[in-house]
Amino acid sequence: MSVENRADRQLHQLGLQPADLDLVINTHLHFDHAGGNPLFVGVTVAVQQEELEAAATDNYLPVWDAPGLQFQSVEGDWSPVPGVDMMFTPGHTPGHQSMLVRFENARPWLFTWDAVCTQEHWISQDLGATADVRRARASLTRLREVAADEKAKLIFGHDMAQWEALGMDQSGGPRLVASDE
Ligand SMILES: [Zn+2]
Repeated sequence: MSVENRADRQLHQLGLQPADLDLVINTHLHFDHAGGNPLFVGVTVAVQQEELEAAATDNYLPVWDAPGLQFQSVEGDWSPVPGVDMMFTPGHTPGHQSMLVRFENARPWLFTWDAVCTQEHWISQDLGATADVRRARASLTRLREVAADEKAKLIFGHDMAQWEALGMDQSGGPRLVASDE
């Protein structure tokens, strides 16, 4: 990653700054997913309760927390706004969550994050790094069912080839606009 990939720089490309946000959602508290949290002091940060507990006791790099951060703990499946469904998918970490985003004129996008890191993992049903194999397996099964039921486009947490194929807009930011092509 470069400095331009930082969450505040990416927001800037959309004409926004951290204070413009109502809510930040952490999929889990590993440093490469929540290390930008200190940019969001003053914005509510939603995290699964089990993840907050794990990060406080387990061997997480402490970059997910900073003075003044306001965490909102959530438990299980929940929806921050209509059209966005957060799915509790523990296994990679105790409080990992995935995200299904619905669009009016395109099929939904299912963001698996680190429950399924890459397309290769999806195809081979490889669980990757897990805190709990049994829960990771159950989460993978559930994600596969949702993907099939919803005919969802999959976005993986660490698939660089896919990320590059999503395309970039003129300013170098990812072009996350749903389409069915
Ligand atoms: Zn992770």
